[in-house]
Amino acid sequence: MANNEEHFKNVISHSKEYGFIFPSSEIYDGLSAVYDYAQNGVELKKNIRDYWWKSMVQMHENIVGIDAAIFMHPTTWKASGHVDAFNDPLIDNKDSKKRYRADVLIEDHMAKIEAKADKEVEKAAKRFGETFDEKMFRQTNPRVLEYLNKIEEIETRFRKALEANDLTEVRQIILDCEIVCPVSGSRNWTEVRQFNLMFSTAMGSVSEDANLIYLRPETAQGIFVNFLNVQKSGRMKIPFGIAQTGKAFRNEIVARQFIFRMREFEQMEMQFFIRPGTEMDWYAYWKATRLKWHHAMGLPANKYRFHDHIKLAHYANAACDIEFEFPFGFKELEGIHSRTDFDLKQHEQFSGKKLQYFDPELNQSYVPYVLETSIGLDRMFLAILSHAYTEEKLPDDSTRVVLNLPPFLAPIKVAVFPLMSKDGLPEKATEIFNMLRFDHMCMMEEKDNIGKRYRRQDAIGTPFCITVDPQTLEDNTVTIRYRDTMLQERVPIAQLNAIIDEKVSMKKALVAASGNATGQPA
Ligand code: ATP
Repeated sequence: MANNEEHFKNVISHSKEYGFIFPSSEIYDGLSAVYDYAQNGVELKKNIRDYWWKSMVQMHENIVGIDAAIFMHPTTWKASGHVDAFNDPLIDNKDSKKRYRADVLIEDHMAKIEAKADKEVEKAAKRFGETFDEKMFRQTNPRVLEYLNKIEEIETRFRKALEANDLTEVRQIILDCEIVCPVSGSRNWTEVRQFNLMFSTAMGSVSEDANLIYLRPETAQGIFVNFLNVQKSGRMKIPFGIAQTGKAFRNEIVARQFIFRMREFEQMEMQFFIRPGTEMDWYAYWKATRLKWHHAMGLPANKYRFHDHIKLAHYANAACDIEFEFPFGFKELEGIHSRTDFDLKQHEQFSGKKLQYFDPELNQSYVPYVLETSIGLDRMFLAILSHAYTEEKLPDDSTRVVLNLPPFLAPIKVAVFPLMSKDGLPEKATEIFNMLRFDHMCMMEEKDNIGKRYRRQDAIGTPFCITVDPQTLEDNTVTIRYRDTMLQERVPIAQLNAIIDEKVSMKKALVAASGNATGQPA
């Protein structure tokens, strides 16, 4: 069993070798933190997006979708706060000339101390065996307590510094914690500066007249500015939601961990407009509903956890992340934020237009509150792929690499193989392929022996392989081979559609994810 670091490396190289993800413009040595989805990756990504869209829009009668433009009026970003406050604190190491996010350096340092505490717990657990009381040990062991106090001390200091926007203090924390540059190993740090993460470009043909505009750093604002358009044209009644998927751009200072943090990425966001005062019920509802969506894909519950935000953004009155255990640890996958009426009020103020809803039940107008769910499609892709990638030892001591993808997400559902490239077998295989392709992404493969063809399909997660052999010509039966069990059985061609449909249908996941499909708080 590969360790996590190795596992992650294997996932990255597998992604390239099997056509999931390529570095962008690779023939020019790539572009930092920008990636292209390849022939299989694009299918997997589309299937994840479809699953999100269907469970949000199709399964909620009070949620509709839009597709707003990436370019927006520049004032949008003044109103949203991004021009003034969408910053990361950055710091450079003078020896290695490498640039880091100051907050990430400090958080990584705290994570290291936490790992030391965990190690103590692990050692004690081994020593005491079954009688070990972990909770008690964490509360009383002097070493562990020392580590935990240290973390709390750094955290408190860091939070205060951020709240006061005191960058000198942030730098001082880095110095006091004796944090070294991972590349040069030195503590020769520059000052901490704020760095705006938005990409800008110019719109207009003549440079003097051109307007500075931004590539959207989030899709949410396209929803807010369309709130009234959708409400009026769709005759929507509060509570209702607007969903959107699309590209977002952030000039991340430290882009790393493959597609986890990219400079161009895709978000799937839903803004739910509600009556002021009901936000805590809806916050609980969306937390539970979104987690259900994740679990319904078959990803194990112990890979997920909530992380409640202690320090809230200025616009939020409750917020949490759904974290997933990536090969490099638990990290944010999705955010759920109670955004109050901040965004709509800001847009009212900057546009001079009223963005209010007349509530017939209350007989009054108000600016609705907003509950947001925001997930990175690429991060979800990475979570699924890194969990699905398995190196499996087989009884004959060989290993196979298999992607245990939920069948409804698999890029290719069925591969059809003629056993040999002669005697009418390719023609019969083409006939079956042509029958199945109306419903599913299918593939034909004639090259190599059957064993090798199976392995290639395992490696891209294809749930079914169908082999056409001479007997097929006699009795219209084929061998169907299942990815997970590797079992093969002979079935009539006439039954193929039913067998495959049942297994690759998204319906089961949608049912499991929907739970309370009325869109009302539980
Ligand atoms: P992080 O703290 O990791 O930078 P964030 O809190 O800035 O993320 P949000 O602004 O809440 O992220 O964006 C919502 C979602 O968009 C995140 O949960 C994440 O899945 C995704 N996302 C954000 N930034 C990136 C990025 N640079 N690359 C890929 N996905 C991203």
